Amino acid sequence: MKLSSRISGIKPSPTLAITMKANALRAEGRDVIGFGAGEPDFDTPLHIKMAAIKAIEGGFTKYTPVGGTDELKDAIIRKLQKDNRLNYSRSEIVVSCGAKHTLYNLAQVLFEEGDEVIIPSPYWVSYPDIVVLAGAQPVVVETKETDGFKLQPEQLEGAINKRTKAVILNSPSNPTGAAYSRTELEILAEVIGRKGIFVISDDIYEKIIYDDFPFCNIASISEEMKKMTVVVNGVSKAYAMTGWRIGYAAGPSEVISAVTMIQSQSTSNPSSISQKAAVEALVGDQDVVTEMVEEFRKRRNCIVEKLGAIPGITCMNPAGAFYVFPNVSLLFGRSWRGKTISNSSDLTEYLLEEANVAVVPGGEFGCDHHIRLSYATSMKNIEEGLQRIRDAVVKLD
Ligand SMILES: *Cc1c(COP(=O)(O)O)cnc(C)c1O
Repeated sequence: MKLSSRISGIKPSPTLAITMKANALRAEGRDVIGFGAGEPDFDTPLHIKMAAIKAIEGGFTKYTPVGGTDELKDAIIRKLQKDNRLNYSRSEIVVSCGAKHTLYNLAQVLFEEGDEVIIPSPYWVSYPDIVVLAGAQPVVVETKETDGFKLQPEQLEGAINKRTKAVILNSPSNPTGAAYSRTELEILAEVIGRKGIFVISDDIYEKIIYDDFPFCNIASISEEMKKMTVVVNGVSKAYAMTGWRIGYAAGPSEVISAVTMIQSQSTSNPSSISQKAAVEALVGDQDVVTEMVEEFRKRRNCIVEKLGAIPGITCMNPAGAFYVFPNVSLLFGRSWRGKTISNSSDLTEYLLEEANVAVVPGGEFGCDHHIRLSYATSMKNIEEGLQRIRDAVVKLD
């Protein structure tokens, strides 16, 4: 059967592919430690699950308004006021089936053929493909490790032309864990305001941030920036709710009503039950988040220290999210059994074959000198896995 040309320009999510490959090896009996996971390893907190059970028992099991219930929109509005000092009304909020779905729908309503969208690299794997699916052109701007993997104002300005429609910012970042300070965002906002482009601010890791780093998003810089920004967030990462599929956008009402229209002709509302659970996540006990973040912080410290002690590997200390993105380029050119390791995929393959450890090659995020390890796994796995990586790296010729 001949498929549409739309589908030929995109590829399946590589992080899901790595997880599947590791699972397949495990099924063959190999003891593989996985650092590929893009989701918290914690269970969804009990009070959130109970809210869903109550929704089912109470018969809250029918269609809801396409863009989400008023109850959930109000919970999101209060969250944005409290955490981000941003004021929105219900017509400026839409709830979707996960933040990825929010981003997809936003691209569909904002971008078209002839538009360019700036994506700083290393980037989350889905951004370029979501832009391509909307018919637009992703313009990847490489950030430097020496700049902490953060987009510099002159880089941004240099990438903007008449066709530029928007820039996608993600702080804290997947895969680097880098987070922008308020001052850094103010400087970027000056360029964005002057050039008149849109910002999609993917704040999904807002709550997973360490050492009291003050989270900031660019919409809160000024009233002008708020008008040019769509804030994207969700409950997947902060509340260990990846399977529930609830994400949302806050932004100008004409954008939000367009997203709602797309949903009305595609998915309709996100699950009614998940919406009830998301309300409980947002308004209920927040200590569960603090506890998960504290555990992530311990693991981050452990993994950064152990990676840094491996000869040939250097690792930046991430400000947030649950990934480390070590530089492994000093290992390129080394070999094992006559096979030379010349890029991040070769190293990933070597680690899987020789060390039974699954990581994600940095090339997938547009940054081939690095690999990504998720520390959304137990401390025991981190200790054992890092020992295996060390042993494998040391024996390279
Ligand atoms: C996980 C993730 C998302 C999507 O999360 P959903 O589960 O779809 O809500 C969006 N952006 C980034 C950077 C992510 O890592």
